[in-house]
Amino acid sequence: MGKCRLCMKEEALEESHILPKFIFRYQKASSPTGFIRSTKNPNQPVQDGIKLPFLCSEFEDRFAKWETKFSRNIFYPYQTENGQTFPYDEWLSKYLASVAFRVLVYVYEDCGLDYFSRIMLQHAVNSIESLRNYLLGNNSHPGGNRQLLLLLDTLDAVSIRSNPENFNIYMTRAIEFDVITTDVDSFIFVKYLKFLQLCPIYLSYNKGWRTARISHNSGILRHQDHELPDYVMNKMRAGCNALNSSIHLVSVRQESIINSRVTQNLDKLIESPVGKASLAEHLAKS
Ligand SMILES: [Zn+2]
Repeated sequence: MGKCRLCMKEEALEESHILPKFIFRYQKASSPTGFIRSTKNPNQPVQDGIKLPFLCSEFEDRFAKWETKFSRNIFYPYQTENGQTFPYDEWLSKYLASVAFRVLVYVYEDCGLDYFSRIMLQHAVNSIESLRNYLLGNNSHPGGNRQLLLLLDTLDAVSIRSNPENFNIYMTRAIEFDVITTDVDSFIFVKYLKFLQLCPIYLSYNKGWRTARISHNSGILRHQDHELPDYVMNKMRAGCNALNSSIHLVSVRQESIINSRVTQNLDKLIESPVGKASLAEHLAKS
């Protein structure tokens, strides 16, 4: 028993994934070594991400329906390059809001957002309530917590130069989430494989936050250039640097295991998204 984070009733809770399971399943299936490593401790393979008792079965089922819509209509077609334009309905905004809600509540419960200013913390608490009411269907519009979604891909020769080593691997393969604040703005950051989703908590102004917005009704999503605030790009560069420094943490024993698996699967490596991303980066820099 526990309190459901959405309907707030004391109920038997399901084990919920903070980030949907299909993301990790896909990353594992498309990885040349067959399993996932996280940057915090790269010697420990991470199978399917963080999960914890979070929602009652009614809302776990509701979230699962939006996840299925997203994975079938956008996630798999875009990851496997079988689609470039993606018509969507209300489910997209709901799916994105459900992920943003899980991330925000998880980080808030984990550390109390102790790095937020007092005023920004109040905005975060208000955002939890506003996202909750939107997901419950009490509000038909997400208000200030409108979702943004960007379809990522490897960068071209010019754009890659101002970024850290392995940035194309970060862009297409990394999975991470965070709740971020600057002196004036705060937002939820969720990056998985070729998808970047953002949800404002509080914005001092909207510059950089408009073009990637998802309609709460319907629209068409496509891969295109978007404006983004510098601090979002800097967050991605920092994520890439963390990935680069974690490579050095892999123990010698683990490294030889990885190397032997990679050698056994050389064809698979070249065909895999990691192989394609490194090749694209190599070509872009040469
Ligand atoms: Zn519930």
